[in-house]
Amino acid sequence: MPFAKGHVRLNKNPPWNKGLTADIDTRLASGERHGLYGKHHSEETKTKIRVTRREGLLNGRIKTRRGQKNSAESKEKDRQAHLGIPCSPRCRANLLEAAKRPKTEEHKRKIALGNLGKTVSMETREKIRQAATIRMKGPGNPNWGKHESTETKALISQAMKQRWLINRDLEIKRTALGRKARPTKLERKVMQLLYDNNLPFEYVGDGKVVLGGIIPDFINVNGKKEIIEALGCYWHGCQVCYPGSKSQKLGRPDVRGAIYHKFGFHMFPIWEHEMKEPNKILIKLNNWMKSHNNEKTDISSTEISNNIAREEALL
Ligand SMILES: [Zn+2]
Repeated sequence: MPFAKGHVRLNKNPPWNKGLTADIDTRLASGERHGLYGKHHSEETKTKIRVTRREGLLNGRIKTRRGQKNSAESKEKDRQAHLGIPCSPRCRANLLEAAKRPKTEEHKRKIALGNLGKTVSMETREKIRQAATIRMKGPGNPNWGKHESTETKALISQAMKQRWLINRDLEIKRTALGRKARPTKLERKVMQLLYDNNLPFEYVGDGKVVLGGIIPDFINVNGKKEIIEALGCYWHGCQVCYPGSKSQKLGRPDVRGAIYHKFGFHMFPIWEHEMKEPNKILIKLNNWMKSHNNEKTDISSTEISNNIAREEALL
């Protein structure tokens, strides 16, 4: 179309509703006041609208964003604009519905990969706990309304006791393996550190080894009675990171150390916060290995110092 006076560029057109109010144009009014309230386009009009739109799409007059991607900048803008704004009840319902749909193994793996390395704040943990408490109350609990007879209860209890009596360690192992939560992120980090420095320790925290009813994390595989424990600061009551906190009795490093000692094992604790300075851990670990064992350790001190130098170079 040749340019003629009065033509304006399409994207320079003012919005159709500019300067209009509901009193002037009924299209701006809502409900009964809307010009089209209770009315319908005739089939003829509908066809006209459809044809015009299709033509517009074909000749490029109407532009869509199909196939276009947002730039990183624009995505960030979008994110900032939506931060802290809760989604609508309808959107929430959709999300809940989507969450209930069964996931394929591949989908699950993708979610797991996406969550790798993410930490959950104490606040969020508390929120999750509270949500679970509410969910498991009353009808939400799968056992709600179910009552076993006293007889049955006694039978179950007796059977469980019997199982634990026969092989306590096996049951502990079974429980640990059932949880499938291990190795934890911290344990994986420690595993990497031990592996990188050729330290003769194997990960057994998945329940491979049970000592005195507790599961050690790493055990010496060169015949020495040594155990390394990776201690999460929150769960094991680290006094540096959580002063005054108390952990469960069996989570306390002194209690664990004492139990291992009964079996002739020495325990070396690695706290989560110490992992920020792995070279310090290596020095301490080396001294610890020397301190309780006069035999020559399998890794020479020069080898350790080499490794420390390498760690430092990486930092
Ligand atoms: Zn700590």
